[in-house]
Amino acid sequence: MTIAPLRLRLDGTALADNWRTLDRLSGAAACGAAVKADGYGLGAAAVAARLARAGCRDFFVATWAEAEALAPLGCTVSVLHGVRAEDMAVAPGIARPVLSTPAQIARWREAGRGPCDVMVDTGMNRLGVSVQAVGEGLLDGLQVETLMSHLACADEETAMNARQRDAFAGLARKTGARRMSLANSAGIALGADYAFDLTRPGLALYGGRQRAGHDAIRQVVIPEAQVLQRRTVPAGQTVGYNATWTAPADSEVAILNIGYADGYFRGFSDHGAARAGDVRLPVIGRVSMDLLAVLVDAAPDVAEGDWLALDYDLPAAAVASGMSQYELITSLGTRFDRVWSG
Ligand SMILES: *Cc1c(COP(=O)(O)O)cnc(C)c1O
Repeated sequence: MTIAPLRLRLDGTALADNWRTLDRLSGAAACGAAVKADGYGLGAAAVAARLARAGCRDFFVATWAEAEALAPLGCTVSVLHGVRAEDMAVAPGIARPVLSTPAQIARWREAGRGPCDVMVDTGMNRLGVSVQAVGEGLLDGLQVETLMSHLACADEETAMNARQRDAFAGLARKTGARRMSLANSAGIALGADYAFDLTRPGLALYGGRQRAGHDAIRQVVIPEAQVLQRRTVPAGQTVGYNATWTAPADSEVAILNIGYADGYFRGFSDHGAARAGDVRLPVIGRVSMDLLAVLVDAAPDVAEGDWLALDYDLPAAAVASGMSQYELITSLGTRFDRVWSG
């Protein structure tokens, strides 16, 4: 097997600790895990196996293909995007659908497929049936395991959070659902009255921090790239595409094997940094598709073949790159070796 010149260091202990933190913040409610988009890019099977060992029992994916990938683990999986006609061949064998339209509900009921989840829209106007339709008996005769809704602005201070929570709470004991679930990562940090019976964190499991309540959340992912070349750039010469960085003096530069095709986006140009131990090595010039230049004047020992870690603590990396924490974590590409510890 070849060893890739770039790798993700994945901290399984931090992942499990983050789940335990979110479980604690969820109070009496159970804490599940959103592992859609291949476990937010880390690898859904590897993530789910570790979280199942930590005690997590409820997993959420977007599609039936994602559910199939988790089937060998034998855990409880809900498919957030519901069930289309073309999914009925595999449903519910490997997961429960989260039904979100009257057509899906009719399809499920007529096929007599048993336990399901249901998404109710409380104001986001994304997926879900209306509160009013539920009140009028849309779910009658369905075996609803979990009734869900989703918060549009849980990472902000806005009256919309309480409005959504109150609309959702108004459905308590009106549907026969065994459990109710509203909060994502940010919603968990809004307080106990957002937890209901089951929470569904995603981002915070993987090291995202959006609210004060996330202070204990730890970084899980560190991208590392190998130095392909070290060079001296004479004063006045430039580095990289479009010659955006000019050496103010003779400068030591290392070229790393990572670029925007790996999810290390162009927004990090002149804003990101690598590390040699504690020494910060600023990104200089444009991020290329597969390559990156960093200034190594402060690290005389960095040489061809060395591995450097990139600054990727999600909140700070989001500020540096101008991307959201979600975009950063889910975009880390397929060329990395994914190396788990813990
Ligand atoms: C993605 C998703 C989550 C997890 O959200 P985070 O903000 O990543 O915690 C929870 N519920 C639903 C319906 C989702 O689509």
